[in-house]
Amino acid sequence: MIKKRIAVLGATGSIGKSSLDIISRDSENLEVVLLSAHSNGQKLKELSKQFPKAVCVLTNDSNEKLLDSILNIKPDITINGISGAAGLKPSLAAIEAGSHLALANKETIVMAGRLAVRLAKEKNVNIIPVDSEHSAIFHLSRAYSNDTIREILLTASGGPFRNLSVEQMRNVTVEDALSHPTWNMGQKITIDSASMANKGLEIIEASVFFNVSPEKIKVVIHPQSIVHSMICLCSGVIYAQLSKPDMRHPIHDAIYFPYTTPSFLEPVNFDSLTLEFLKPDFEKFPMLLYAQNAAKSSGLFPCAYNAANETAVAAFLERKIKFTDIAKITSCVLDSSWEGDCMDINSILSADSKAREIAVSYIPV
Ligand code: NAD
Ligand code: MG
Repeated sequence: MIKKRIAVLGATGSIGKSSLDIISRDSENLEVVLLSAHSNGQKLKELSKQFPKAVCVLTNDSNEKLLDSILNIKPDITINGISGAAGLKPSLAAIEAGSHLALANKETIVMAGRLAVRLAKEKNVNIIPVDSEHSAIFHLSRAYSNDTIREILLTASGGPFRNLSVEQMRNVTVEDALSHPTWNMGQKITIDSASMANKGLEIIEASVFFNVSPEKIKVVIHPQSIVHSMICLCSGVIYAQLSKPDMRHPIHDAIYFPYTTPSFLEPVNFDSLTLEFLKPDFEKFPMLLYAQNAAKSSGLFPCAYNAANETAVAAFLERKIKFTDIAKITSCVLDSSWEGDCMDINSILSADSKAREIAVSYIPV
């Protein structure tokens, strides 16, 4: 195998850390050539000592230097573990540079998935999902053509508030929302898991990335996070992917794609394993419903959904709004018209700004 030159964007985050763990265990075949972080200069400095050959970029207020570095370095693979809409331009730059994209940043697909997929085809590079559900679907569905897939069954842990009443959810704190039962992740995605906006984003991500109508995507609550998703074929047979809830699995599979290579990661042990599957509650988790509607409406609705939610989550983390206001604000933003061209980057970026402006107008200063 020729040594793969890898960029890790968002290297100081949860996905970044797991990615560097995988890479550092195979220095014979994998080499880090670029690392980025947003604000944690100290941590990036430590990483630069661990990976002395890597160019290190601190993005702070601007990601221009990062985009230039991606284009100059032309990594073989770019792992995008940046959180939020800020990950979009680096994803597009990686594709533009002819780099395969191991994509954890689901916002790239939610905001500009069709554009990214088209660009990747033009540049002859792969986009390999790292989001665990989409990694499962990606690997499961490689053997089947799209028209043989009857349904995608997207699993969800249900988050920490699965058993709370609507009434109880009004009073949850930031700390309550940040305590995820199965996954250890960054703050934004942890809050999204509590509101199920994360699954909402994933409905859109699956629909766009796999080119499947949103009606064919079903959410299944599975509190143990062992089954990462399933595909149901037209024959009625269902295939599932199982592994421990450890993001190093999908990251490993994305890095070595298209090869299946040995890993230190242990498979699930069935000696005493109970798996549960339940129906999602759309009334309690309206973000699921809004995402389904945004996916069906397509255009710039998915982009607006993401921007509204991202703005509201930031306000919740700053304790300016209640947890249940996240869905209320998103719903108000989606009431505007978001028809538009989702293949045009300028339309996407201006919809993103406009949705944020509207969302901010509902947040107390
Ligand atoms: P995190 O908060 O732990 O890390 C985010 C990283 O992005 C950090 O390195 C930070 O420096 C960088 N960053 C933040 N804002 C930035 C900006 N404006 N510009 C450039 N860089 C910026 O987040 P995470 O949990 O690792 O998630 C990263 C992405 O992966 C998200 O899109 C998330 O939805 C997705 N994802 C994460 C997991 C998980 O288990 N953590 C699972 C599936 C998908
Ligand atoms: Mg996921």
